[in-house]
Amino acid sequence: MNNKEILSDLLQRSRAYAKLKIRRRIDTALHGQHPKAAVVCCSDSRVIPEEIFARSIGDIFVIRTAGNTAGVSEVESLSYAHHHLGIELFIVLGHTHCGAVDSTIHGEHCSIFDAIASHIGEEKDPKKATMENARQVAKELSSRFPEVDVVPLLYDIETGEVSRL
Ligand SMILES: [Zn+2]
Repeated sequence: MNNKEILSDLLQRSRAYAKLKIRRRIDTALHGQHPKAAVVCCSDSRVIPEEIFARSIGDIFVIRTAGNTAGVSEVESLSYAHHHLGIELFIVLGHTHCGAVDSTIHGEHCSIFDAIASHIGEEKDPKKATMENARQVAKELSSRFPEVDVVPLLYDIETGEVSRL
């Protein structure tokens, strides 16, 4: 598929989605969103928080970056989630086989990889590094939002299991 075909396919799928009269979509459009938790997770296409936690439209406020990092934009988004939407639970969801963590371990540099590097130190084991990265992001968010519960979790992309860190 070339890009034109891919876009056409996506738009066709979106039209099918729009035809579904999903009650939740209509209700949240009319009455606003009241998500109960914010999730900071990786942009990895295999990590889909709504599916992982069996939630739907309006349930979770999701922030996605490569390597579930939290820079200025992400922190400001979380500030909005807390102060405007009343969310008092932030989840930092690391995942196994994270490409951003692997790239960091292999010495690649960009602002995201450098942030991950500062979290994982000399750790070379991908899973341990992923766990430490999620823990450190949660720790940073806890210091910025001391009134919020910030919980680091690990998602296994193979088994679908989520564990506490
Ligand atoms: Zn990832």
